[in-house]
Amino acid sequence: MRKVYLDNNATTPLHPEVKKVIVENLDLFGNASSVHFFGQESRKAVEDARKKVAALINATPEEIVFTSCGSESNNLVIKGVTCQDIYCKPDAHTGKHIITSQIEHPSVMNPLRTLERQGFKVTWLPVDKYGLVDPDLVKKAITKQTVLITIMTANNEIGTIEPIAEIAKIAREHEVYFHTDAVQAVGKMKVDVKDLGVDFLSLSGHKLYAPKGVAAVYIRKGIFVCPSLQGGHQERGIRGGTENNLGIIALGKACEIAMKNLDAEVEKIWKLREKLRKGIEDRVPEIFINGHPERVMPNTLSVTFKYIEGESIALRLSAEGIAVSTGSACASGSLEPSHVLLAIGLPHEHAHGTIRFSLGIENTEEDIDYALEVVPRVVKELREMSPLWARK
Ligand code: PLP
Repeated sequence: MRKVYLDNNATTPLHPEVKKVIVENLDLFGNASSVHFFGQESRKAVEDARKKVAALINATPEEIVFTSCGSESNNLVIKGVTCQDIYCKPDAHTGKHIITSQIEHPSVMNPLRTLERQGFKVTWLPVDKYGLVDPDLVKKAITKQTVLITIMTANNEIGTIEPIAEIAKIAREHEVYFHTDAVQAVGKMKVDVKDLGVDFLSLSGHKLYAPKGVAAVYIRKGIFVCPSLQGGHQERGIRGGTENNLGIIALGKACEIAMKNLDAEVEKIWKLREKLRKGIEDRVPEIFINGHPERVMPNTLSVTFKYIEGESIALRLSAEGIAVSTGSACASGSLEPSHVLLAIGLPHEHAHGTIRFSLGIENTEEDIDYALEVVPRVVKELREMSPLWARK
């Protein structure tokens, strides 16, 4: 059976060149903090990788802190900025207000909910029907108490790209820190921390063809955050723990490849995404596309198939070799409809009938042809069994 992977926002496969460097470095066991030869060899590899990660987002190597996953990067910033422990941060900002949106990833929303329980006030900004945050609303929400604004670069479910540079400018004018969760964006579209003007940015290896278990956070030079993982002096004391040499080398390689190939890949993937979108629109009635028509990640296509359940579609497609997802991988397994789809105004039944196709560098025209052969048939068959379709 043909296998077509269209779930690259859940995770990406290893790039063959990344796999190669992992294999080549399997014996690089030295602790990067050791002074001897074994340690220094690892240190060099880690620092080379840091340069490559920094280069991809136009940062300096000193501004990159390695972590274990995008969730950790988000937690590190949120907890590190809001920490009011005068032992680790004598000049701790005492404001207790944070601004975010209603469509963030759980690794942003959940630490913020914890802070709410601890007495912080969080403003959860609404989004429009495309999933866009209005910079004016951000501006209006800022108070003297505001310590952090955190808005994602691109949404993992619908692909909408937020007006990050505009929001960052507002944050700067009000001297408020600005963080963006760019876990879905880095490696899939151009991301430049200087152009965006952000203070913090999260990225994750397994979304850009590196393995799971390695990620990074950009912390603009001169900003101090309290360590969320307390330990040794690794990562400038911000993130203790012996460095994951192999993961970090792999992430560096993935960033180097993205830097070289990104423009060409984006163009190719966007063409395939548009072929899939037009093909579905032409072949399947009673559907609509979610997310912004233009300000959207080149690889992401969120489609609502009315009168049937996304879960059934995803399972039937999987049986035919096509991997897609109903929303974010983190939300699957829950009966609740996606908070992102509800926030853009979809009623529950439409939110439940939504499929996310997310393309990657390995996809071909033939993959899309196969999807366009299978998807309309599966949707038709499911609708024939659906009482909602019969009653419409
Ligand atoms: N932020 C966004 C927007 C994501 O899509 C994800 C993962 O799906 C994460 C954060 C979490 O990243 P990780 O899986 O590396 O913890």
